[in-house]
Parts: sequence; C-alpha cells; structure tokens
Amino acid sequence: MKTEKSIAIQYDQEDPLQSFRKEFYISDNTIYFDGNSLGLLSKRAEQAVESIMEAWKRHAIDGWTEGTHPWFYLSEQLGDLSAPLVGASTDEVIVTGSTTTNLHQLVATFFKPDEKRNKILADELNFPSDIYALKSQLKLKGLDPDDHLVQIKSKDGNTLQTQDIIDGMQDDIALIVLPSILYRSGQIVDMETLTKEAHKRGIIIGFDLCHSIGSIPHQLTEWDVDFAFWCTYKHLNGGPGSVGALYVNKKHLGKEPGLAGWFSSAKDKQFDMEHTLTPAEDAGAFQIGTPHVLSAAPLLGSLEIFKEAGMDQIREKSLKLTNYFMELIEIELTDYAFTIANPRDDQTRGGHIFLEHPEAARICKALKENGIVPDFRNPNGIRLAPVALYNTFEEVWETVKTLKEIMQEESYKKFENKRGVIA
Ligand SMILES: *Cc1c(COP(=O)(O)O)cnc(C)c1O
Repeated sequence: MKTEKSIAIQYDQEDPLQSFRKEFYISDNTIYFDGNSLGLLSKRAEQAVESIMEAWKRHAIDGWTEGTHPWFYLSEQLGDLSAPLVGASTDEVIVTGSTTTNLHQLVATFFKPDEKRNKILADELNFPSDIYALKSQLKLKGLDPDDHLVQIKSKDGNTLQTQDIIDGMQDDIALIVLPSILYRSGQIVDMETLTKEAHKRGIIIGFDLCHSIGSIPHQLTEWDVDFAFWCTYKHLNGGPGSVGALYVNKKHLGKEPGLAGWFSSAKDKQFDMEHTLTPAEDAGAFQIGTPHVLSAAPLLGSLEIFKEAGMDQIREKSLKLTNYFMELIEIELTDYAFTIANPRDDQTRGGHIFLEHPEAARICKALKENGIVPDFRNPNGIRLAPVALYNTFEEVWETVKTLKEIMQEESYKKFENKRGVIA
C-alpha cells in the first residue's frame, strides 16, 4: 500500500542528500515546512558568521582587506558562489541589496521609456513588493501606473498562461518583470520561452527568482534573460534579512547603473575618491553602498552546502517529495474539501505544495499546535514546502496523517479562522 509509513522510510534510506539534514538546526518534535519563507540555520552558516565576527575582532578596519574573507570583495565572492545556481558566469552575479531594492536598481537601469515604448508588463499574481516598486518607478518617470503598468490576468486565480503573457507583449511595452515561480501556487513560469518571445519584440525581460533560487536549476545565460534578482533567506537559508542578489546578462555589463553609489565603482578606482564614477565592468556596478557584511556572512557557509549537494540532486529530491505529498493527500484527504492548487506536472511545479481550503487559517493553527510549521497565505491557502536539504519523506507522511486527524476530529474549530500579523 502506497500509504504505509515503511515506504516513506525506504525513500529516506535511498535519499542521496540525507546526510545534509544533520547540518541544520531543527527543533525537537517540529516538522518545518516553511523553508520557502525562512530557511533554517545550518551549522556552516553559523560558523561563517563567527568567522566574520572574528575578523572584525582581530583586524578591525583592516578586515576590509585581510582575514579569510576580506569584506571589500565579499559581495563578489558570494556572487561567484551564487552564479552556478542561476546558470551564469561569475561576473554576471553580485550579492547585494534586497529583492526590492535590487528590483528598483534594475528598473532604474533598464527602463528607458520613450514616445513609443513606455509601459511595463507584469502580472496580477506577483508578490506585492514587486508591484509597489514598479509603480513607484513609473511615477518617478512621471508616468501614471494606471496606464503604464500592464498586469497579465490569471484565468484561475492561481496560475498564468504563457500565451496570455505573450499576448501582452505589445508594441508599447518597454520592460517585462515576472516571477520565476509564483509565490502562492508554486507555478514555474517558462522563462526560456518568454525571454525568446520578448526579445523577438525588442523588449527587455527580467525575473524575480525569490521562490526558484535554491529550489530549481536555472540557465539564465543560455536563455538570454536580461536581468534577475532574488532574496537569500528563503531556500538559500541565509537567515532573516540576509543580503539579496542580482544577475545582469553579460551583454549589458558596462551599462551605467540607474542608481549609483560608490560601491558601483571599479574596485581599483573606488578609493581615488573622484566625483566621476567609473563603474565596475561586472555586475558589481549595480551595488550602491557599503555591503551589509554581517547579513551576508551566513551565505558563505550556506552556499557551500548548495555547491556540495548540487542543484540537480536538490531538484530531483524536491520533485519526489512534493509528488509523494500529493499522492498521500489524494488518498488520505479526499473527504475534506482540500484542493491541490499547485501545478501537478514536474515541468511547472516548483518547490512547494499549495492547498486551498475555506478553513485554511485555522487548519494552519491546528498544524502548528501539532508541531508542524506550514505557511498560511490569505485568504484560503496553505503552503507546505518540503525542503530537499533538510526535510524527509517520513515528515511528509507524518504531516498528512496529522492533517487527517485534525480534519476527522475537527480540532481546528477551536481556533479562529483569521490570519496572524505575519502570515
Ligand atoms: C520574498 C519575496 C520578496 C521579498 O522582498 P524583500 O525585498 O526581500 O523583502 C519579493 N518578491 C517576491 C516574489 C518574494 O517572494
């Protein structure tokens, strides 16, 4: 029988990534399925922070150029470590800023409206911060977002159709910004096809990789994507508020950053203190000010884990986990009005399961009471992210069993069906 626990245990025994779990701090009696909101702390990330603290202690100002990871080159070094995760060469990636500030930087750099092309194409399902940033960039250019931000509609409220996006690529579109994976349904957007279609029409295209970085492999350079940006505290386990990252395609390197600062400088020129900026020739040009060294530090350890585990193995296990999750849900929870609202097929399914249920808010509270950490998404969504580096098939099995008990016993009813401040 598919539902027997022994199957989960067997999958765990066969798992080539099983040794990574013990590198993470996982609370006792907790099943953590929220790694797509905040990844867990690894011992390697913790040690990396300690080594940066040690450099500060010992070297003080000289830590910028001395110690094991001189801070002056840290953003570039982390960019090098991140490049394989997005299929880029090392000069195309820099670890800097946050998702939202990087989006501001990239739109300020790439959105050059003229008489003919003066609109930005986005979608109606993206994370609010991206939309706020796009609207404010339009306003800065004196353009009304109501007329100049075009948002592709979703037919089912959860997913986007590639053809609908292509149909939106009209003559007046100058720039396209889309998520790589939708944060609610976990749908993977076809970045390769969309890039090809955008370029056929002379439109610049960039992607927000927040939910795909560290969860699926990318080939940004091969696909010829113009730019991308992402956070590092979700699947990359960089810690709360860890420094974000961006990618700029080689063909655009040398472009003047839309938002300049002294860290946009060529490294050897920066301390000449001239009032004319000589931008770096690599993606480092899109930095603004002094790097946030302490919140970049965990990535030194965390990205090493990704290098060792390899994105292909991570993706393979992730697909197996989510597939197993869906199989069990379909067998065990048929009586309880759950809808699996993430895409089913491997091609378009990202790293998490998205369940819809009218009582989602309080079912999440009941799960938490039982030691399972899900992620509620207003108004009726439950995100469950089994993370390849530290979650197990047995945890998936336990979770479905617990969900079934919660529904059978109606134990969710003792909670209010309302979201908390952070959800
Ligand atoms: C998590 C997330 C953000 C968060 O932006 P920050 O600047 O890191 O706060 C933005 N966009 C998407 C799609 C996200 O998933």
